[in-house]
Amino acid sequence: MKESDIVTELPEGWLRVKVPLPFSLKWVNSYLVPEGQGSGYTVVDPGLRTDDAVRIWGETLHERSIDWGDIVRIVLTHQHPDHYGLAGYMQEKSGAPVFITERSHRYARRLWGGGDEYGEALKALFLSHGMPAEPMRDINENLESFVARVSPQPEVAYMRAGGRLTMNGREWELIDAPGHAYGAVCLYDKSRRWMLCGDQVLPRITPNVSVVPGEEEDPLADFLGSLEQLQTYDVELALPGHRDPFTNFRERIGELRSFHARRLADMTDRLAEQPATSFELCEAMFGTHLRSNPHNLRFAMAETLAHLFHLELRGLASSRTSGGVIRYYADPREER
Ligand SMILES: [Zn+2]
Repeated sequence: MKESDIVTELPEGWLRVKVPLPFSLKWVNSYLVPEGQGSGYTVVDPGLRTDDAVRIWGETLHERSIDWGDIVRIVLTHQHPDHYGLAGYMQEKSGAPVFITERSHRYARRLWGGGDEYGEALKALFLSHGMPAEPMRDINENLESFVARVSPQPEVAYMRAGGRLTMNGREWELIDAPGHAYGAVCLYDKSRRWMLCGDQVLPRITPNVSVVPGEEEDPLADFLGSLEQLQTYDVELALPGHRDPFTNFRERIGELRSFHARRLADMTDRLAEQPATSFELCEAMFGTHLRSNPHNLRFAMAETLAHLFHLELRGLASSRTSGGVIRYYADPREER
């Protein structure tokens, strides 16, 4: 990518930096937000730590005559590695404080704070839902590869959903945005009607909604509830974590809500035809080719579980365990 493809100028001196990612999402949007003459920049979501990302940040700042020391604050919409990973590195270079919610930080520490409690819990979950040992081993290896991509870990300061943050001379409302990542926030500037969405609302791609061991058991309900709440906001410019800034915020939320309604209906239809494990449904819907892509397989499996948990909690499916493996059925009332 040329510099012109990597950095986009937005209104009011904002810069959108496409920080490369080594997987199918291709890039994460990082926002360089000017804090006024001589007051430096806030960086929203610096990206995943890779050699490419480090190089692109160095080049971008150099070409714009911005020193590392001009970065005065780093704000994280959520804790996923593609947003959080470079925060510690950028903090080392700039000395800037890193702001994140306490819940997001707790998750980051659990995943990358040493120990493999999370990897083991995920393995137990996926195996009990029918995933064979081999793809599971690949997923665990892939998870471990993220430790280097989020190191060093930043020293953080907490911000609170429901609170406010002054940035770019404006006051931003911090909106709790659960379901994709618990602890995530969207930031809303009412005066300009700008929404920094993180990954809660994305154009063209549907944000992943995953069952995560140790978090709430119905992330889809929380995600849909969050979308419903976000849809009440009047938004002129939405600044997402992936793809391009967009303007049809409410319409896009409508599409995301319909997508999940269709997906739930599709799954109950499939279960009515034939009971299945979560892994069988995952492969039926997303394809068996994902076995060669453990990163995407993890998301696909955890999202299939999110839909199945949601259906079961709403009484639209039921599950039975046999031989240590959980299988889902369409009609919980039917005697079997
Ligand atoms: Zn992301």
